[in-house]
Amino acid sequence: MRSTKNLPANKRSAEILSKSAALSVFALFIIFVYKCPIRMIFGIECPGCGLKRAFRAAVSLDFTSAFHYHPLFPLIGVLCLYVVLTVFFPKLRVFKKAELVIGIVTLLLLAAVWIYRIFF
Ligand SMILES: [Zn+2]
Repeated sequence: MRSTKNLPANKRSAEILSKSAALSVFALFIIFVYKCPIRMIFGIECPGCGLKRAFRAAVSLDFTSAFHYHPLFPLIGVLCLYVVLTVFFPKLRVFKKAELVIGIVTLLLLAAVWIYRIFF
């Protein structure tokens, strides 16, 4: 990723503004438009199904429902927050060497939860 620390202040502000706009559009799309394509096409839930409902329940402080909708929502939330923060502040990318391992472990956990939810 390109570093922004040597850019003049107005270019850095413009870059932060454009990243914020892109992130806002993405967030609005996920919140208001996105429907799971796997579920629509095949009629089964994907490994990420339930995350949006879980985050909505967590925002309402209904953590029992949130864990029911998707038990990995805290992990996914922390990872999303880490990704967003490191986009804006690359110096916060402190887990650079462990990011691949964390990503693979997260995918394995998502697969395990998905398989569990299909069969139990
Ligand atoms: Zn899904």
